[in-house]
Amino acid sequence: MAVITEEKIQRFNHLVEKAEKIVISAHVHADGDAVGSTSALFHYLTEVRGKSTSVVLADRDAGGSSFLIPEDDKNHFTFYWNNPGEAARIIAGADLVILLDCNSFSRTEDLCEFFTESYAPKVLIDHHLDPQENEFELVFSQTDTSSASELLFYLLMAMPDIAGDARKLPRQSGIALMTGMTTDTNNFSNSVYPSTLEMASLLLAAGVDRDAILSDIYQNYRENRLRAMGFLLSKMTITPEGAAYMILTRKNMITFDIAEGETEGFVNLPLAVKNVRMSVFLRQDNGFFRVSVRSKKGTSAQRFAATYFNGGGHENAAGGKLFFSDDISSVKDVVSYLENALNEFLHE
Ligand code: 5GP
Ligand code: MN
Repeated sequence: MAVITEEKIQRFNHLVEKAEKIVISAHVHADGDAVGSTSALFHYLTEVRGKSTSVVLADRDAGGSSFLIPEDDKNHFTFYWNNPGEAARIIAGADLVILLDCNSFSRTEDLCEFFTESYAPKVLIDHHLDPQENEFELVFSQTDTSSASELLFYLLMAMPDIAGDARKLPRQSGIALMTGMTTDTNNFSNSVYPSTLEMASLLLAAGVDRDAILSDIYQNYRENRLRAMGFLLSKMTITPEGAAYMILTRKNMITFDIAEGETEGFVNLPLAVKNVRMSVFLRQDNGFFRVSVRSKKGTSAQRFAATYFNGGGHENAAGGKLFFSDDISSVKDVVSYLENALNEFLHE
């Protein structure tokens, strides 16, 4: 990978070498790639490098990647939402910070102030647009890759103790990397590069059980999720300009008894319709709607999310927020705000 230069490998290796307490983090609402990449790096740093390491996340979705944090790993994962004091303490005590799967500490939301206050060297390993390079000592940033997990895979493969042999990666690292790449590519349906298939091939050859991972990710849902999905699809709106949108209210979530992470993947479904070029999914949260956007080639989900929803992400997969007080005056106005935004954007 072009961004993994010999000079950067040595600097990364050196930073790890001299660190005594490492903290790893990723974006809020950690998804499969965020949990996968942090988990993979955690196992490498502890098992191969013998480093005292913690993963601190603001929160995570309750979706398909939960299996990556088995009971005996729970101590090493700290979540700000249920353990804010401990999360702050770990960050303050770390002498190396590594951020994965997001382009800035601002994407860690509640954790951001603690990272900003830390004097430890900071490293970024990410695949989003617009990395905030000034926040870091060392940056590995590449957008033409499937996932942070893939970028991390090639970085770990370049480390002297792995030396290009995927069999030397800890077992859990291999599983976590395969999982992060699989969820971010939607099981090989987007953002797949030759390097992505090569990574999958090398991990398979190293003994990673992909069938078990697929079953853990995609065949492990509660019935409620599918019922809610059916409800949303039956109510989906498709505009004449080729945008589809679905809105999940708090009330719907109570009716179907589903948690926020269980809606992961819903936003992709409307793209199955021939004339739909962009899909928007809104889920009500406290004081705002969380917005997910997906688009087909030629339409920019990233620009739509950045322009209308204070967000960003990738060209064809992005997200943001719609605040009640700022952007819309009441929950009911969400539809007209969205329709206006779609109309304006798709007629540009
Ligand atoms: P998702 O729709 O799966 O939550 O997010 C899709 C992509 O958009 C991810 O790469 C995620 O990092 C990015 N994204 C989601 N929400 C936000 C946001 O509020 N701000 C920014 N900058 N990116 C976001
Ligand atoms: Mn990612």
